[in-house]
Amino acid sequence: MNFYGRYFRKYKFPFFAAVFCVTSEAICDLLAPTLMSNVINRGIGQGMISQVYYWGSLMLAVTAFGACFAVTRNILASRVSQRMGADLRYDLFEKIINFSEQSADKIESGSLITRMTNDTSQVILFVNGIMRIFLKAPITCVGSIILATLLNFRLSLIIYSVVAVIATLIIISMRLSYPRYSILQKAMDKVNTVVQEYLIGVRLVKAFGTYEQESEKFESANSDLMQKGISAQMIITLLSPFMSLAVGFGTVIVIFAGSRLFSLDLANPGDITAFTVYMAQILTSIIMITNVFNAFVRTKASTARIREVFECDCDFTGSGSAGNAEELSGDIVFENVTFAYPSGSGVPAIKNLSFSVESGQTLAIIGPTGSGKSTVAWLLLRFYDVNEGRILLGGRDIRDLDVDTLRRNIAIVPQKPMLFSGTVAENIRWGNREASDEMVKQAAEKAQADFIYRMQDGFDSLLGSAGVNISGGQKQRLAIARAILKNSPVLILDDATSALDAVTEARVRENLKDMAGKQTVIIITQRCGTAMTADRILVLDNGEKAGFGTHEQLMMDCGIYRDIYRTQIESSREMQEE
Ligand code: ADP
Ligand code: MG
Repeated sequence: MNFYGRYFRKYKFPFFAAVFCVTSEAICDLLAPTLMSNVINRGIGQGMISQVYYWGSLMLAVTAFGACFAVTRNILASRVSQRMGADLRYDLFEKIINFSEQSADKIESGSLITRMTNDTSQVILFVNGIMRIFLKAPITCVGSIILATLLNFRLSLIIYSVVAVIATLIIISMRLSYPRYSILQKAMDKVNTVVQEYLIGVRLVKAFGTYEQESEKFESANSDLMQKGISAQMIITLLSPFMSLAVGFGTVIVIFAGSRLFSLDLANPGDITAFTVYMAQILTSIIMITNVFNAFVRTKASTARIREVFECDCDFTGSGSAGNAEELSGDIVFENVTFAYPSGSGVPAIKNLSFSVESGQTLAIIGPTGSGKSTVAWLLLRFYDVNEGRILLGGRDIRDLDVDTLRRNIAIVPQKPMLFSGTVAENIRWGNREASDEMVKQAAEKAQADFIYRMQDGFDSLLGSAGVNISGGQKQRLAIARAILKNSPVLILDDATSALDAVTEARVRENLKDMAGKQTVIIITQRCGTAMTADRILVLDNGEKAGFGTHEQLMMDCGIYRDIYRTQIESSREMQEE
């Protein structure tokens, strides 16, 4: 578990303080039965009341000290374990923020949430357990065995055999339960994923009336989790009664054998009483050890899952150059780029693609769904690296740029715009945190987001999580405003005006034109009318370049483009004429 080393180092002092408390407490616990045997043997047995007082008050003092140590270590344990858990969650979150697309594709978000909450709680429980009892239990256990041996060797043979039986039981149960706990966590992931999918797609579920299907899915994941839970706990459930049984037998034998030895004058009543107390202490400490082992088994499974997150690829390792990233020119060059999604079927999504756009130009990318338009944007942003060829921004290979710098130079309005809970203004300010209210307003106006003025609190209106309380077109306009505010050399609109009506779309495009000269604008679209107005048009078909040039050039020499034009523009004209 050297994985936790750096967390451990941070809390070294309180940890060792807790270890000290636990050790002292264990010693106090160990002394008590021996002191008690003295109360009985030297005091009560001999009829010496002063001896009873002497050993009795010593015993009381030792127990009081033990209680003080117990309180201190409990306080320390809670604080340290909770803080370590918070550190762990923080680091996990940092890691997840920087996830590369590959990593994000690999671990489902439902599972990430389980790992951040459930698995870290398991670690907290374990650390807490270790600090409270882990050292105490072995010390008490071994100490009790030693002191019992010193008290009476013959009787202690019984203790040895009881301990051997219990140790075997523990080893067997651990072997059986570890794999079950890994399976249990996976079942929990499944439940989370189902719930999350439902929540994300709740409108679709309602629209298609597929409640039953969804609840069946949940029901099956849920009962699976239940079964796995029962199976994992069954082993532990069987273990502790068996252990109690073994100790119960041991105690009975101690008393039997003790009375025999007493009649032979080989043991006295004080020893026998102390023996039963040691026996009980051994039982409690062994139960504690099992609990910690049990927690250990679960924690081991959880740790493996947490480590998996930490071992995922990251996009960038925090350049720290926040705020003053280098400004590049908006010249874009694709040189023989080929790329296949690592999670895909191996068929390239982009095949040997070359084109270039100069700073200040508008480029439209047009093509049917699945032709690789969005992939061009993701590659430019380096969410994925190309397999062959290279991409240049401002004359530099994007792989030589710091990813942070690269992304500061590109603003994107993705196909599915994401908004976050917070106010309208906050969501737009994502583009530029330092922007003044005036700048936010201007950006919103350029994006034709005048609906904001009709909202109850204007720019301070609250959006629900993921922007649930506004329409798709409104979402798109807020996302465009955000990208405009970022004012970066490259602006990409990935089908970003699809939910806008033709008039609004034309206005947004007009406003973007005003900004051109400073910005390279890439408009990804399926509408010919949108593409037509661009300086250059790239026609994509199945990941390959089917044409590149101005509208006039393409109308002359690109069959696919002509087809798109005819079906979209001419048919709509005919409809109007009819
Ligand atoms: P477009 O934006 O033109 O509709 P995309 O660039 O989104 O097309 O997709 C191009 C191809 O790549 C499609 O065949 C699609 O199935 C595939 N693809 C897109 N995203 C992924 C992904 N994350 N993993 C695997 N394949 C993907
Ligand atoms: Mg797309």
